[in-house]
Amino acid sequence: MARAERSLTGVALTEPVLDRRGDLRTDPGLISRLLADPATRVLRLVGDRAEVEDRPDGTAGVSLTAPGPDDTSHLAIYLGDSGGAAHVAVLTDPATAADDAVLAPAMRTLREVGARLDPLGGALFAGTLALANWHRSHGHCPRCGAPTEPASAGWTRRCPRDGSEHYPRTDVAVIMAVVDDADRLLLARNQRFRSGGMSVLAGFVEPGETLAAAVAREVHEEVGIRVDEVTYLGDQPWPFPSSLMVGFRAHALTTDLRLQEDEIASARWFSRDELLAAVADGSVHLPGRVSIARRLLEHWFGGEVEAPETFGLR
Ligand SMILES: [Zn+2]
Repeated sequence: MARAERSLTGVALTEPVLDRRGDLRTDPGLISRLLADPATRVLRLVGDRAEVEDRPDGTAGVSLTAPGPDDTSHLAIYLGDSGGAAHVAVLTDPATAADDAVLAPAMRTLREVGARLDPLGGALFAGTLALANWHRSHGHCPRCGAPTEPASAGWTRRCPRDGSEHYPRTDVAVIMAVVDDADRLLLARNQRFRSGGMSVLAGFVEPGETLAAAVAREVHEEVGIRVDEVTYLGDQPWPFPSSLMVGFRAHALTTDLRLQEDEIASARWFSRDELLAAVADGSVHLPGRVSIARRLLEHWFGGEVEAPETFGLR
């Protein structure tokens, strides 16, 4: 067999097409100046949805418009520059938005559209959603409990009572293709997955732990397998609500599975032929094309796997 590529390619939401210009965020007048400039490109996020434009070739972009008069009454974030234009996200609570702004068919979630988004659309939508999720759930100061206020062009929150500054959090998770000596891939169905849904194992990194140690611990906890040769293949922002998925391949030292029953409903080793047969007869549904889980699986497989039915991950 041909040697596998050393790293993942074509992972959705990972193209570094935005110049984030962190140096500009400290300018307190930046947002109001950008929202008064018709050259600014605005992405409007309503809850977790943004307007998406489908293209004839099957790809999609996020709708970007000039600033509107209402934008200054919402939380706005300077995302960065691309193509010579500043890009700003404006966040709206669906409870206060007009129904047609929430329910219009063009309003999509990142899960729905992420696999087809162009690189700029993916970067803008993923970054905006991660920041929106953080602002939504971190409105109070962890030191004194006072309500905090957005600062740094939307990239921090500041406590007006004690002056403390708070930064967006990213929760690091490992996700791993575990392969045995017969070159079979381990797939498991988490208790949260719909019937038939199977994927590679994943879990959050714990405090004080390295990425490689987290891979080994999660695999052993969930299926009772010891691994070595833990190799980094790629990563992906996964803003549901705030993860960074770090993808690995790992070599299984044993093959007898012992499942962690409250977490793993089933698990099994697949040869390439067995996986194709299970996908074809509908007994196995793979994770969606937007996910690094699917790319890790296809990295092992050696090419794209056509799967008519997929299921959503966390
Ligand atoms: Zn405080």
